[in-house]
Amino acid sequence: MEAITIVGGGVAGLALAAGLDTQRFDVTIHEQRPGLPSVESSLAMWPQAQRALAALGILPEVQKIAVPLGGMALRDGAGIAWLSPEVRGVLGVSRAGLLGVLEAAVPRSVHRVTRRVEDTSAMSGLLVGADGVHSVVRRAFRDGHADARPTPYLALRGVLAEPVGEDAGGEYWGRGTLFGIAPTSRGGTYWYASFRSGLGPAGVDVAEALRQTRARFAGGAAAVGRVLETAAPETTLAQRIWTVPLLADYGRKGSVLVGDAAHGMTPNLGRGACEALVDAATLAQLLNSRPVPAALAAYNRQRVVRTQLLRLASAGMTRLALAERAQPLRDRLLRVAARKSRAAAVGRS
Ligand SMILES: Cc1cc2nc3c(=O)[nH]c(=O)nc-3n(C[C@H](O)[C@H](O)[C@H](O)COP(=O)(O)OP(=O)(O)OC[C@H]3O[C@@H](n4cnc5c(N)ncnc54)[C@H](O)[C@@H]3O)c2cc1C
Repeated sequence: MEAITIVGGGVAGLALAAGLDTQRFDVTIHEQRPGLPSVESSLAMWPQAQRALAALGILPEVQKIAVPLGGMALRDGAGIAWLSPEVRGVLGVSRAGLLGVLEAAVPRSVHRVTRRVEDTSAMSGLLVGADGVHSVVRRAFRDGHADARPTPYLALRGVLAEPVGEDAGGEYWGRGTLFGIAPTSRGGTYWYASFRSGLGPAGVDVAEALRQTRARFAGGAAAVGRVLETAAPETTLAQRIWTVPLLADYGRKGSVLVGDAAHGMTPNLGRGACEALVDAATLAQLLNSRPVPAALAAYNRQRVVRTQLLRLASAGMTRLALAERAQPLRDRLLRVAARKSRAAAVGRS
């Protein structure tokens, strides 16, 4: 049996453990969190991620806790819809629910250690960094030169039991502010917000972040005001957004990075967890079918360029969505695009 040590039992680590051939590999996961996250949030799952879930044999289970993300408009800060693109095939999935399905898919023979890993030097076999944006494995892999970088933006998110109000779904882009409202599979509302803030970068005070959010969005769209009236610190997550510097390879010698540890990106394309799942399914399939060095070389070829391009595209989307000085120009261009799209729709009908 060849040993594989996975640091991090989040989306990427659990998905990898679920996909590895336990007849060939002796797998151990080290995870610091003792249970599932207590504050609920939601993840957009794009078709590529759904294919990765299918490859792991758990797509039907995930579909049971998912809702199709249709009816999501792009709106200005006051809530007027610029564009209502037809979103097809994207699911909204409960994060805790997804982690639960992944947990259940991990074979019983996988060893579980509940602790925070500080030092990876004594770990045996292939070392997998699935430990998120602040990865200790990446730091060791890059001789301490790849620390995560804080962006100036705060991200808040939460789930409310009340349903999304009629004609409220979508993203609201204001001047340096972004607010999102989407349905959840249990008939509730998933909301998220982002704006520049001096809170953090570590240990953000949730109540203060919520207070700042209410102040930033005061007098804006009615639907946003209603969500923020109901939101409470106990059901809200607040953090600074961090990203990972550019990496030219994810696997070499005895270690490999998956998910945010490899390509932590801003959340504006909704792709981080999706790519973490694709990383895990790809790496599992390669390790199961090739010697480890050949599998790592193929993993680099298949995953580095695509995920680094997504990382850049996501950073571009963040600048556009949270534009401050360029906001009037952005809004004018989006209004023109909206007029053209309406005229094209009338022409078609
Ligand atoms: C506001 C926001 C919204 C988002 N929305 C979406 C979305 O809609 N769709 C999407 O695809 N992505 C989204 N993402 C991105 C997504 O959350 C991440 O890309 C995804 O969670 C990455 O999974 P991961 O397993 O690589 O890392 P993580 O989810 O960070 O998991 C890492 C795990 O490692 C553990 N760990 C860390 N360090 C150690 C250590 N030293 N020892 C032991 N354990 C350790 C942690 O406890 C954690 O369980 C969003 C992110 C944010 C911030």
